Amino acid sequence: MLITFREAAAKILAANKILVTAHILPDGDAIGSTLAMMQILRSLGKSAQVFIDDTARKNLQALPHFEEIQRPKEGERFDADLLLILDTSPDRIGNVRKLTDAPVLNVDHHVTNKGDGVDLYVEPEAAATCELVYNLAREFGATITPDIATCLYTGLATDTGFFQFSNTRAETLAIASELIRCGVSPNFISEQIEKKTLAEVQGLIDALNSLKMFYDDKVAGMILDYATAKKFDSTEGFIDEIRVIDTVDVAFLITERAPNFCRVSMRSKGVDVSKVAAKLGGGGHIRAAGCTLKMPLAEAEKTLIEAIGEAL
Ligand code: 5GP
Ligand code: MN
Repeated sequence: MLITFREAAAKILAANKILVTAHILPDGDAIGSTLAMMQILRSLGKSAQVFIDDTARKNLQALPHFEEIQRPKEGERFDADLLLILDTSPDRIGNVRKLTDAPVLNVDHHVTNKGDGVDLYVEPEAAATCELVYNLAREFGATITPDIATCLYTGLATDTGFFQFSNTRAETLAIASELIRCGVSPNFISEQIEKKTLAEVQGLIDALNSLKMFYDDKVAGMILDYATAKKFDSTEGFIDEIRVIDTVDVAFLITERAPNFCRVSMRSKGVDVSKVAAKLGGGGHIRAAGCTLKMPLAEAEKTLIEAIGEAL
């Protein structure tokens, strides 16, 4: 069921023991929004704990309080009176779902999240879930410490490609500005997030060599087989290297993470790729979306190209 900002805020304020989570394959917005929310809730005297059922890429592990994130263990239970799911619908939280039977509150900015069966406050116009967490913190009258601001700014920066993508709106920059006042160092965050090892930069050459063009150069794809993909801790940003090609509307990256397990990222300048992703079992935003294709790499490539072709 869809609920309003104020209803979501009231549900959070009424709870005392809050389990905070976000999606598997966590990105900067998932880690930033959950860690910020945990600190905000604790500052209000509540007990709060972040669980995420996955590992995060190295560059996000430097975020304040990252080391407190727990991963659910087999058969584990956690005493909570609210399960707060950020930056995703509840189907992408893995075994966190098994930790508690507490009521669920879902706060998200993905247009593909329809709130089936849970209370959902969704703001598809928001650039990042961290925008919504910032607004909630202000509603609660919480103090935004430098650590909280760092987490929130990271989510804003990573979901907007450092304030370049079409989801960057006046509110996004206004919040970023406030966060800098609260103690954020933008250069520190960008250095930390964009840091790559020598092997990763060298691997980019292999990635660029995998470039293929389709549909009169309107679609560009990078296709990384397992041998290439395993060289990288993260492929974040790779797609941006081909998105910029002047003829390209849709750019995609397929990464073979394991046999029959291919991760897909898409970016577009016009086509609604959230619909393409949703059709293939994933989701996201109009201009940035993704999915997982559980099939061999060659079949994943064919399936994706056909689906993009239909959307063009
Ligand atoms: P990225 O390409 O950066 O991994 O993801 C782009 C956007 O699509 C993000 O907002 C991300 O949350 C969403 N997304 C990526 N993969 C999936 C998926 O498998 N399912 C859903 N529902 N959303 C996804
Ligand atoms: Mn997000």
